[in-house]
Amino acid sequence: MSIQTTLALTPDNPLSFFEIAINRPLFQSFTYAYTKDIQPGTRVLVTLGKSTEIGIVLSSYQTSPKVDYSINLIDKIIDDSPTLSEEILQLIRWTSQYYFQPIGELVFTFVPNYLKQNKPLTSLHLEVFSALPDIHPPTLAKNAKKQAFALEYLTKHPNCPKDRLSAAGITRSTLSELIKKQLIIKEFRAPAAILNAPNKDTSLSLTEEQSAAVQAVIEAKDQFSSFLLEGITGSGKTEVYLHICQFFLTRQQQVLLLVPEIGLTPQLAERLQSQLTAPVITLHSELANKERASRWLQTHQPMPMVVIGTRSAVACNLPKLGCIILDEEHDASFKQQDGIRYHSRSVAIKRAQLKNIPIVLGSATPSLETLTNSYQKRYQHLTLTQRATGAKLPVTIIEDTASLPTNELFTEHTLHTINTTLSNNQQVLIFINRRGFAPTLQCSQCHWVAECDHCDIALTVHQSTNSVDCHHCESKHPIPKRCPRCNSPYLAPLGYGTERIESELTQRFSNIPVLRMDRDSTQKKGSIEKIRDQLLQNKPCILVGTQMVSKGHNFPNLTLTVVLNCDNGLYSQDFRAKEHLLQNIIQVAGRSGRGDKPGKVIIQSSFIDHPLFDYIKQQDFRGFAKEELKNREKLSLPPFSHQAAIRMQSLMDNSAYTQLLKVEQALKAYKASQSNDNLDISLTMPAAVERKSNWYRYLIMLSSRDRKHLHHYLNVAHNYLMTMPRTKKLKWVIDVDPLDTW
Ligand code: ADP
Ligand code: ZN
Ligand code: ZN
Repeated sequence: MSIQTTLALTPDNPLSFFEIAINRPLFQSFTYAYTKDIQPGTRVLVTLGKSTEIGIVLSSYQTSPKVDYSINLIDKIIDDSPTLSEEILQLIRWTSQYYFQPIGELVFTFVPNYLKQNKPLTSLHLEVFSALPDIHPPTLAKNAKKQAFALEYLTKHPNCPKDRLSAAGITRSTLSELIKKQLIIKEFRAPAAILNAPNKDTSLSLTEEQSAAVQAVIEAKDQFSSFLLEGITGSGKTEVYLHICQFFLTRQQQVLLLVPEIGLTPQLAERLQSQLTAPVITLHSELANKERASRWLQTHQPMPMVVIGTRSAVACNLPKLGCIILDEEHDASFKQQDGIRYHSRSVAIKRAQLKNIPIVLGSATPSLETLTNSYQKRYQHLTLTQRATGAKLPVTIIEDTASLPTNELFTEHTLHTINTTLSNNQQVLIFINRRGFAPTLQCSQCHWVAECDHCDIALTVHQSTNSVDCHHCESKHPIPKRCPRCNSPYLAPLGYGTERIESELTQRFSNIPVLRMDRDSTQKKGSIEKIRDQLLQNKPCILVGTQMVSKGHNFPNLTLTVVLNCDNGLYSQDFRAKEHLLQNIIQVAGRSGRGDKPGKVIIQSSFIDHPLFDYIKQQDFRGFAKEELKNREKLSLPPFSHQAAIRMQSLMDNSAYTQLLKVEQALKAYKASQSNDNLDISLTMPAAVERKSNWYRYLIMLSSRDRKHLHHYLNVAHNYLMTMPRTKKLKWVIDVDPLDTW
């Protein structure tokens, strides 16, 4: 049914009006009416055009709104309580404005998939059992041992969910008997986090530096304050987090601990859970939909708890949030790079500010943005300069590969060192940032290279699946038997990926287990844990891995790290490439020598004279940062300027280019009309990989030393973009603080 906005709010017409976000890539919210008040954050069903959509109430209007369309009634209220709190809605609004992201899509980015459907929150409720009080003594037969046990258990654990009872060996039939006797009751409740009994008290006495760090954060309780915790690898940052958690939990508050990768959550959760009484809840995208939603709902409760989560967990409810910790703050995975674009670190800082609580950004190799913020005293700088166990940082050696034959992977010295390490019963890590068998398949006769039909990129050879795969659009193809250009049968994989290294090392060291950790080998649930467990047995073995191996792991018997193929990062066009390379290498080097045996790192490169290697050898990230910041200042690059990209892409043809040129011209014309020209507008340029999944992609970069000024221009650009025809074949997005800039 439709009503007119002119309809007055009279006692006969007691309608309320609401601003509603809908999960569509649209910038506006929608206005709907209902016969009674609805709290912001509540999910509703509305009709939009011909379809029924889930909406979330953002706010209610005090007076009837003036819009030029007829306002529909809300079809149905899904839940009688809000899914998102007012605090989170406020945070999302800020994010939408700061990042120029459509409010509807953004709201739903932070809602678990299960709740993007028309399923009430009550469908997540659990069957819980409790003993009924005041029935003494229980009227149980002497031989009803199972019932007596169940009754006793429930007296100790009220509101006990069914699966926990099953785990304790209590069956449904025993429970039914007790219900019949009216000794216990069954109810349905919102899932609640379960208290935990710490299984060991291995609380370490903190080093002086650690104590000082914990103390500084504790002192900042109940006020907004940002900290950079810069601690070398193995310096005990996690121990600092643990003590911070402990403090806030005893104040009956909650702590949000954000990590860059799913792979890091189980071990971190285990470590915290083994020492904290409060529940530790992990939230990430690999959980089954219902499980994730259920855990997410647990975080709505005001009880003390720690939530460990990836990117989007930044907006989980946590009404009693007392502190936010962001581990590996420099990690690019905190920035969502496709679809909705936002940086979890910035949103987390905003959240801490809105809530007036401290936030800790931890890293061994802080981003230059964060480092600058601490130099400029916007963040308090806490440092851990020693490894907590007293272990020394590993010694680093750069190996020259310039004269290595193309089919040889390791230099003689590297091989020798691997050998010695293994024969000393220690473990070796081989790090290469490339999964698959080989990055290219080439014809030996005519040098044809297998490329994706849909992307401007070479296909990667995968031996395990016998296919050539595109790592951009995920398409897979059988390995061709003959060259499509010259019909030669001599097609050869060129270069190395993790699979190939694994297979070569397996041949070479036949009596030593070679394990591989990359996205392909860890598809199955629990496979990371399996690899971890094997390394923790401390027997000699070789671990070959990508980025995945570089963070968080603590393998005491791993004493040699070999870094392969880092040369791309030395001469990349991306101004952040060197920073990221160094962060990566220091992280992965930090896996070596964490126990009582000294560690070693070998980096193979064809450019051993590159100045970056001086910093790498000394593990001198600060020294690098100092030099690099000088450069960036000279060139007016971030953090000395702020950037935003306007990205546009078109399907099947490059029409986005012409469209984006118009935006460039409009912006430049606008700039010419302004007196203040503290802003640079680049030419329209193709993305690093121009065609991806048949989308042709272009961008314009805007940069200014003045953030307000940049945002002013983005507003102008946004308004202009909104007037452009929008079709299924043309998409655009504004990317504020982009991490890939070309
Ligand atoms: P980081 O997170 O900085 O890489 P971790 O917190 O993982 O470092 O600590 C590295 C190692 O040092 C772990 O084995 C941890 O148990 C140990 N450790 C941390 N703090 C202390 C301490 N105060 N005393 C002794 N050992 C410690
Ligand atoms: Zn050929
Ligand atoms: Zn592709």
